[in-house]
Amino acid sequence: MTKPIRVTVWNEFRHEKHPGKPQEVYPNGMHAPIADYLRKQGFEVRVATLDEPDHGLTDEVLASTDVMTWWGHTAHGEVRDDIVQKVQRRVWEGMGLIVLHSGHFSKIFRALMGTSCDLKWREIAEKERIWVIDPAHPIAEGLPEYFEIPHEEMYGERFDIPQPDELVLISWFAGGEVFRSGCCYHRGRGKVFYFRPGHESYPTYYQEEVLKVIANAVKWAAPLETTVPTFGHRPQPLENIEVGE
Ligand code: ZN
Repeated sequence: MTKPIRVTVWNEFRHEKHPGKPQEVYPNGMHAPIADYLRKQGFEVRVATLDEPDHGLTDEVLASTDVMTWWGHTAHGEVRDDIVQKVQRRVWEGMGLIVLHSGHFSKIFRALMGTSCDLKWREIAEKERIWVIDPAHPIAEGLPEYFEIPHEEMYGERFDIPQPDELVLISWFAGGEVFRSGCCYHRGRGKVFYFRPGHESYPTYYQEEVLKVIANAVKWAAPLETTVPTFGHRPQPLENIEVGE
């Protein structure tokens, strides 16, 4: 039996701590339904949140994480730069990273993308229709041609990201905007997936299709037993060649 993929579900966990819509919708935090679903899929899941020491991302946790999911919104600036650098290094080493919704503005996503990651937005609880545009992609496994989220925040293009290596999902909103909702990137030996849905006021992370995308992305982003590249000066050629040849 192969070892289960070790997932760390990281959540800022601030909105849900105060009375209001996010707390009503996610009484145990937005991480709870995601972690529950991933556990049911057989992954080894742990939760980490911003207000824990080191944001719950100690060296030990980072070293034993195969794939991390990241939801943040109101406190991106409070995430310590040294922790962001460690997460980025782990991605380069092969750790998968699934960036969710407002995580588009997180320090880690912007560091990995190298762009502003800005976008258009509007919050009037409109319908979102998510189209699977790459049905051969592993993240599309088991999904219908499209699925709908009845009430979501709108994110619209232009989304200031580098051209994705693979684009799996595109969203259409009732108000007319469109958005690249499922974007894959390779960074070093690691894989990064940005997945759009998940505004804190709506029960998006209880929806089966949304959770399925996250679970599929965890499988896709999990590290492979591939060659670890080496770098640096090579005074000795691989072939016997004459100097100056
Ligand atoms: Zn939002």
